[in-house]
Amino acid sequence: MDNTIAGKVINGRRLVLLPLPLQGHLSPMLQLANILHSTGFSITILHTLFNSPNPSNYLHFTFLPIPGTCEVNFSDIDKDKVVSLLFYINSKFLDPVRECLVRLMSEDDGVACLITDAQWFGTQSVADGLKLPRIVHRTSSISSFLLFAKSPALLDTGCFRQGIDEERKSETLVQGLEPLKVKDLPKFLTSEPEGVCKVLELMAKATKRAQALIWNTFKELEERDLEVLSQDFPNPHFLIGPFHKYFPASSSSLLTPDETSLSWLDKHPPNSVIYVSFGSLVKIEESRFLEIAWGLANSKQPFLWVVRPGSIEGSGWLEPLPDEFLEIIVEGRGYIVKWAPQQDVLAHRATGCFWTHNGWNSTLESICEGVPMICSPSFGDQLPNARYVSDVWKIGVELEHGFEREEIESAINRVLVDEEGLEFRNRINNIKGKVDICLKRGGSSYSSLEDLVDFILSF
Ligand code: UDP
Repeated sequence: MDNTIAGKVINGRRLVLLPLPLQGHLSPMLQLANILHSTGFSITILHTLFNSPNPSNYLHFTFLPIPGTCEVNFSDIDKDKVVSLLFYINSKFLDPVRECLVRLMSEDDGVACLITDAQWFGTQSVADGLKLPRIVHRTSSISSFLLFAKSPALLDTGCFRQGIDEERKSETLVQGLEPLKVKDLPKFLTSEPEGVCKVLELMAKATKRAQALIWNTFKELEERDLEVLSQDFPNPHFLIGPFHKYFPASSSSLLTPDETSLSWLDKHPPNSVIYVSFGSLVKIEESRFLEIAWGLANSKQPFLWVVRPGSIEGSGWLEPLPDEFLEIIVEGRGYIVKWAPQQDVLAHRATGCFWTHNGWNSTLESICEGVPMICSPSFGDQLPNARYVSDVWKIGVELEHGFEREEIESAINRVLVDEEGLEFRNRINNIKGKVDICLKRGGSSYSSLEDLVDFILSF
């Protein structure tokens, strides 16, 4: 891959990047930092003291902790705490962020521009006050952002007020965003839909005022959605993803990946293993956990399963699993780890299917390795991502009834064993081929990166 942006005089101009302190947001922001560093910019990462990146993995960056951000313990953040986290950081941490920026701007090399996660929406006013250009990095897909931006207007329809199960049943299409359905609307705390919608509204308004948006996606995947988005968000859009394909898998992981996952995969034939992981935030009830276990057991297919300690409500780790199930592990058909080197697992020849929660990073990583998906979205952008995987790109199936062992077994067979699985594989490999092209010189993401560099240099 050739990532050299030739002929530009960048001279180490400094960019300040401010990630959201959550795994799925931190990784793409650090990947973006690496990409921009490779074009010649110098990078300062402004970060909270909880969930902070490990500076020793990025000796080429400067790290600046935001003072006072260790006062709260958000280290065990799950989905129910995300909205409170966003309100908290966007009120309490804005003054210290401003102070850091003032300090950096007064230094010799100054600051060319601030790049923040879209959910640091409060920083737009800070940047305006300092006359500092702000570019937004949105870590989701464009299609899910469209739905997010439309959600506040849908609040009055009452569709957020229903319980999760009722919502899942709602097949009504969202006008203008078909095939997205009411049941795909983002949810965090269904008991407080106003809180979710307020966050989304603030994010959309601040994003509209930003100088530009950077997306971890690529034109060939979301061209139609980009057109729709540009009508409401006329800012320049730079689609330069998939970020993680620019460099070898980097270590932005907040947890330690279990490398034995790969030696276990080595023992299996090509495309035979189902890899199961629901990301860094999802928590599930014990009854659902057991349905997953029996669905996997009954499918008779080999599986590599990530079970994060604490992700099963009421349990430390694997305590709820019965002995009959654990025998399958002892026999070698299944392997359970606390955290996997996911990008390497997906790239492994033995991995034939990814049962995912459809966080955007996981979805994109699966697409890039041509691994068809079984989708079990839980909240936020996972729901629209899953809809696109199953209904638009047609590269996987969604478990429409949640976690039921019969449906799980049938989905595994559809993707791993049946003829239909080949069709999913062919389609996703076709998209994978486009990824390889878009990152090469002259490709869409490559060209967009060149445009982004020019754009920043124009400030
Ligand atoms: N991940 C990982 N090992 C695991 C599970 C996840 O390295 O065992 C990484 C995965 O590759 C992805 C990120 O964690 O880059 C999860 O981000 P995503 O947007 O998919 O989901 P989130 O955690 O934000 O819900």
